[in-house]
Amino acid sequence: MPANSWYERAYRRAVVDMHIPDWDDAFLSRFDAGAFADRLAESKAQSVVAYGHSHAGLFLYPTKVGKPHAALKGRDFLGEVIERCHAKEISVVVYTSLIFDRWAADNHPEWRVVTHDGKFQGEGGRHGIVCPNSPYRDYVRAFTEEICRGYDFEGLRFDMTFWPWLCFCKHCEARFDREFGGPIPRTVDWFEPRWVAFQRCRERWLAEFAGVATGAVRALKPAATVEHQSSTYPLNWMFGVSEALVPRNDFLQGDFYGDALQGSFVRKLLESLTPNRPFAYETAVKAELKNHTSVKSEALLGAKAASAVADGAAFVVIDGIDPSGTIDPRPYRRMGRVYDQLLPYYDQLGGDRVTDVAIYYSLASKFNPSVGPRPVSNPDTTDGHTEAAMQTARRLIGGHRLFGVVTRESLDTLTRNGVRTLVLPDATVVSDGEAGAIRAWVRGGGTLYASGGTSLVDPSGKLRDDFALADVFGVRLSKADWSPREHYLSPTDAATDLFGEFDPTYPAFASGYGMDVEARPGATVLATRTLPWPAPDASRFASIHSNPPWVKTDRPEVVLNVYGKGRAVYAATVLETVPELSPTFLGLLKRLSDADRLGVDAPECVEATLFRQPDRHRYLLSLLNFQDRLPNLPVEGVRVRLRLGMPVRGVRLLPAMTPVATRGAGGVVSFEAPRLETLAVFAVEAG
Ligand SMILES: [Zn+2]
Repeated sequence: MPANSWYERAYRRAVVDMHIPDWDDAFLSRFDAGAFADRLAESKAQSVVAYGHSHAGLFLYPTKVGKPHAALKGRDFLGEVIERCHAKEISVVVYTSLIFDRWAADNHPEWRVVTHDGKFQGEGGRHGIVCPNSPYRDYVRAFTEEICRGYDFEGLRFDMTFWPWLCFCKHCEARFDREFGGPIPRTVDWFEPRWVAFQRCRERWLAEFAGVATGAVRALKPAATVEHQSSTYPLNWMFGVSEALVPRNDFLQGDFYGDALQGSFVRKLLESLTPNRPFAYETAVKAELKNHTSVKSEALLGAKAASAVADGAAFVVIDGIDPSGTIDPRPYRRMGRVYDQLLPYYDQLGGDRVTDVAIYYSLASKFNPSVGPRPVSNPDTTDGHTEAAMQTARRLIGGHRLFGVVTRESLDTLTRNGVRTLVLPDATVVSDGEAGAIRAWVRGGGTLYASGGTSLVDPSGKLRDDFALADVFGVRLSKADWSPREHYLSPTDAATDLFGEFDPTYPAFASGYGMDVEARPGATVLATRTLPWPAPDASRFASIHSNPPWVKTDRPEVVLNVYGKGRAVYAATVLETVPELSPTFLGLLKRLSDADRLGVDAPECVEATLFRQPDRHRYLLSLLNFQDRLPNLPVEGVRVRLRLGMPVRGVRLLPAMTPVATRGAGGVVSFEAPRLETLAVFAVEAG
């Protein structure tokens, strides 16, 4: 942990992008560090990411290592910003752009990322992209050392620490040959160990490159924090981001541009990975990064900032400076008003998330096994595992289940946090070590839901003969089949309560792949597969718009198994991604464990989070109303039921600590929340 803990208090952060070239004398000619700091103060930001260097590759201070921006003319923009921001008690994180560096690419073509056919990656575009395996890394070390020696700052942010594409430059080819033997493979094939070895190299090389930058800061400015761009962890395999990158950071901070669901999922993911808290959830203050003039509405910024509060995250907004160097005051005023509403909450945050259901996120599984081998000229970057994990989060939010994310590195939290159920959403790649830890946890009383191809492939790309967790699932693999196809799930007599109005005559429709399995002795089959009318060719069908159910089979689709003191459900179809099976999925989780610590009666747009704060002898409960169309319609009559395994002394509504009338005592306490606009935070006095 770095000595400088500015980030522990800075829940309100800003980034002011300055990716401005210097081919026009007007560019940055009107930059005014005083106005810059004034705007930040007005926005109530506690920290800013200030540019030392940008994607343009130009430095905003008089560098001796690279090229200073022409607008400096004897000035030092970075130094001025640091001085003005520090005067207003705003912490400064210095920004540099790795890999995306226009100046370096133009002046050192031998450093550039090279495509499979020998061309420069991104040629003709705005960005210049250089390879982390080239001598470029010495340049990174040199400018990082220069910044560390020259300036007094709280942290360093390295942006763009990822592989934008596959690189076949001479440095990568030579390194792969030296470390693995032979040329880089020309076919993307997730069941081919040579391809998978190349991907593992890319992950390792990237983490090593990040270590060069981080190491330079650690050596010269050990008190400063270091972070690398962290929006890439939930992105597909192409980015080459793995768990190995995490230790190069003091905390994780990433920018995301999706909806309420994406925000909720990625916050739990960053929370599970971050070395120190708070982690930070970041987005553009403008409608999009490419939209220079439309500021997001106060309702949207307010809902996003409130969602960060509900998850105990710092919130970061990114603005872009005008090319002349002036700053649009509107977003800063707007953020000031947003934070006026939320200021009383920040001192209340902290503690450990109470997680009844944990989603397992496998960074090695971020590919689509149903696509098949593809040439490197046209790689597939879809990702079934992330989609299944996100849809699991959607179901859990809608069902008001307390959920979090667990990765390979945080499996120990299953026991430590008293997780009731672990969901493995089509997590194809599971190592023997991961399988062993999960097996032991279930044997000891944990419950498990797994779907699709979970644990069929080992981290080297070898397809196993059976699931690594087959004994826990209570099934045997007959055939691994990733071909997408329409089929139906028909409930058995053991599951009539789980499938709503679906029955063997009208079974539930699913479109996608599914594994062929047999149930092991002692396991209970909850659903079987019904095949559609076979439709042997385009001209012959049973119904012109659909392929209705036709052939009942006894092929298991959903299997319940008792394993040690625990239980498991295996679903051959990735049924958590089927919207119509949402109640079935939530019902299966209930069948596995009904020991959930929170129940909420509210519409699906309301998410509940709960943090245990033993130092304050309380829990912090947040109810977040985040609707697709804003401003939110208020929600009335939300009922909350708590079953914390300890007496509740009282419930108070923050920030005024207004007592809330509760019912029940001892084991279960319930109350009705007041009218919910966007955020309601309660202190639950217990423990
Ligand atoms: Zn390369």
